[in-house]
Amino acid sequence: MLKIYNTLTKQKEEFKPINPPNVNMYVCGPTVYDYFHIGNARTFVNSDIIRKYLEYKGYNVKFVMNLTDVDDKIIKKSNEEKIGTEEVTEKYIKAFFEDIENLNVKRADIYPKATAHMKNIIEMIKKLEQKGFAYNVDGNVFYDVKKFKDYGKLSGKKIDELELGSRVEVNVEKKDPLDFALWKKAKEGEPYWESPWGNGRPGWHIECSAMSCKHLGETFDIHAGGNDLIFPHHENEVAQSEAANGKKFVNYWIHFGFLNIDNEKMSKSIGNFSTARDILKKYSAETIRMLFAQTHYGGPLNFSDELLSAAEKGLEKLNNLAQKVEDEIKSEKKNGNNPTFDFKKYDDEFEKVMDDDFNTPQGVAVIFDFIKDVNKTVAENENINSEFFSNVKSFLEKTASGVFGILNYKKLTAETGFVKLIGHDVRLIVNKHIDTDLKEIKSEEDLDEYLNKILEIRNKAKKEKNYALADEIRNDLNKIGIILEDTKEKTIYKIIKK
Ligand SMILES: [Zn+2]
Repeated sequence: MLKIYNTLTKQKEEFKPINPPNVNMYVCGPTVYDYFHIGNARTFVNSDIIRKYLEYKGYNVKFVMNLTDVDDKIIKKSNEEKIGTEEVTEKYIKAFFEDIENLNVKRADIYPKATAHMKNIIEMIKKLEQKGFAYNVDGNVFYDVKKFKDYGKLSGKKIDELELGSRVEVNVEKKDPLDFALWKKAKEGEPYWESPWGNGRPGWHIECSAMSCKHLGETFDIHAGGNDLIFPHHENEVAQSEAANGKKFVNYWIHFGFLNIDNEKMSKSIGNFSTARDILKKYSAETIRMLFAQTHYGGPLNFSDELLSAAEKGLEKLNNLAQKVEDEIKSEKKNGNNPTFDFKKYDDEFEKVMDDDFNTPQGVAVIFDFIKDVNKTVAENENINSEFFSNVKSFLEKTASGVFGILNYKKLTAETGFVKLIGHDVRLIVNKHIDTDLKEIKSEEDLDEYLNKILEIRNKAKKEKNYALADEIRNDLNKIGIILEDTKEKTIYKIIKK
């Protein structure tokens, strides 16, 4: 029985979808004005793991993630770069899809864009106005927070306290400082749409209410997002949707904890701001996902090179076993022994810990216990048949690959021959001579790129008459079966295949 910690009720509750086996799930997506940072990546990966676990349980998940493509930040970027807002959003939507794919994140069923849902957004604001929850001040439409008696039920904030804490508002048009914009009157040089209140554009919160309703219905199962969205974004979504539709908006609210870098809050001003794109140049998606999975989604997560390296090292055990399994299955040993091994125990254990509010650290631990036991069985038995290894593969495929995305069979089988044999060693040699840690070598192109990088370093050393370094590099390469041939024009490498 799956239990989920629900931000709305502040307790773990048994998960009961409205229309099983279907589950409707909405996650707040990116504002597409820049590459997304590693904190956003945590939201995308966590929601991906939750979705995949629900699918593992047999649910049929409809997964919707919005793309905010009209926003102050987008307009600012468009002015800075002197390109149209559409060019800005197109560029970063493309980058978003590339980056999530590189993170092994499964695509959502629908990625609704705000600019493509103006009709739905305007309809919902009209409904709120008709029901007395919204008021128009000269083309700006605001939500009247005091009219919604349940305001604060998600975040646990009280209206009185919020008002005490709010600063004196510059915006005198609003009746109350807590009221928020549903529709913003057009300003000179900004994109706008026609509406019953004049030309303008929607506020951010109403987008999610209108688009989730359009694609998932007035009441749906799961809404997720980062902790920082609980207030005011999600609180306002509840207020808008429940006032407009007169129904409960969402049954289960899931929120992801913050991500700190080297134990400090990530911020552009202190210079520890990292995009997912940059991190992916140094570490594989599997490594990043492993680090994420090792912390429960709700808690804070520390992100550092040290922890990433540890995660990478941990994954070696998994990859080694998966590779062995592939080789054994290929050998088609039909008449060998079938050692006693309780596969069901691991299935049950995995489901038990994951059913407890998606306890991924425990889920990872179950996989590594499994690896340990399989290795022990393999060491203690001779001539094991391939059926045993097929069962091992099936467990790893469902859990490590299917739910967590920390094992990539495509890469495993692509890493063949000499790339696999020497790729790791070549990377270590390159890393000795440059400041930044390079990503894993996965293909012959990568290998060629890295070897050329080494040659460059060695040529530079020779030019600077640093022959000790040039010889050191030659010797290091010789040891792993790569010989260098110096000609007059340039140096070439040859790989002696064993
Ligand atoms: Zn949202």
